[in-house]
Amino acid sequence: MKKNLDLKKVVLVGTGFVGMSMAYSMLNTGGVDELVLIDVDKEKTIGEAMDLSHGLPYAQSKMKIKAGDYIDCKDADVVVITAGAAQKEGQTRLELTAINTKITKSITEQVMASGFDGIIVVAGNPVDLMAYVAHKVSGLPANRVIGSGTILDTARLRYAIGEYLNISSANVHAYILGEHGDTSFVPWMNAYIGTKSLMEYVVEHKENMDELHKIYIGVQQAAYEIISRKKATYYGIGLSLNRLVQAILNDEDSIFTVSVYQQGEYIEEDLYIGVPAVINRNGIREIINLNLNNNDKKKFLHSCATLKEIIDNEIKPIL
Ligand code: NAD
Repeated sequence: MKKNLDLKKVVLVGTGFVGMSMAYSMLNTGGVDELVLIDVDKEKTIGEAMDLSHGLPYAQSKMKIKAGDYIDCKDADVVVITAGAAQKEGQTRLELTAINTKITKSITEQVMASGFDGIIVVAGNPVDLMAYVAHKVSGLPANRVIGSGTILDTARLRYAIGEYLNISSANVHAYILGEHGDTSFVPWMNAYIGTKSLMEYVVEHKENMDELHKIYIGVQQAAYEIISRKKATYYGIGLSLNRLVQAILNDEDSIFTVSVYQQGEYIEEDLYIGVPAVINRNGIREIINLNLNNNDKKKFLHSCATLKEIIDNEIKPIL
């Protein structure tokens, strides 16, 4: 158990592009007292801990950073898993299922063997399925296993709508729901500019709904485009993961679209999928149940069916 309850400790498993982008973001924002880095590539991980620590004199943070091992999870508040194979050009996230299920299972077993009793945040892809694996393998309550879900997709959408309408993205309240992947969707009826319906705003300002749909397609395809240009995506998800971990550690009760275990809140059960949820020191405090129209309900169910088929055919045989 934790000796010093005020000490905020995070363990990062996976010191690749995504994990280290989160670590770098954490160094800049502060709010974490101890960050332990774990990866199968131990030499690289020692190098990453050294490199990051050398920036501390100029950072906002007094964070202690070290390369460690799974025993360090014992008294951690949050373990973030970003380890696993990443998408290659032309590859979908779902094509990573088999390899990353084995990796996520093995990591989760080692995290739990330490006596860990905190919150697991999963970011490896396909993230909804990897969160499901971590939940089932860890045996932790569902509120304490969170997938990054559509947190990044939602950030991309808010940024792009803000640019198009020339409104600060802080005042764009629009979500991407569903799988973090090709079956995600935007419930446009539930999108707002400030407190005004986005659809009304668009009509009043003689803007075009078709443009908004194109924005969604751009967001849905963003990972493919970035990967084809620079081989990987990491800053956006790194910032998003840091933001999510801060919301947990600071007991914020903030809302993010994350991958959450479903128990009938949106009809379906026994899968992880992206929905808005209130996040605090207990992980998921509650799912925000949006009133979806029939069209959006169909899209949500299609996204669920896509994930459930893979859970049944590919994941359950491995677990
Ligand atoms: P990367 O190849 O740079 O890093 C992956 C790291 O995982 C490597 O350092 C590797 O050594 C480590 N690793 C592999 N197997 C391991 C194991 N069994 N135990 C410990 N460490 C292990 O890849 P990346 O670009 O950092 O991407 C990591 C994952 O994040 C991928 O699955 C990628 O698809 C995903 N990703 C998710 C999002 C999101 O929005 N959730 C966004 C971008 C990338």
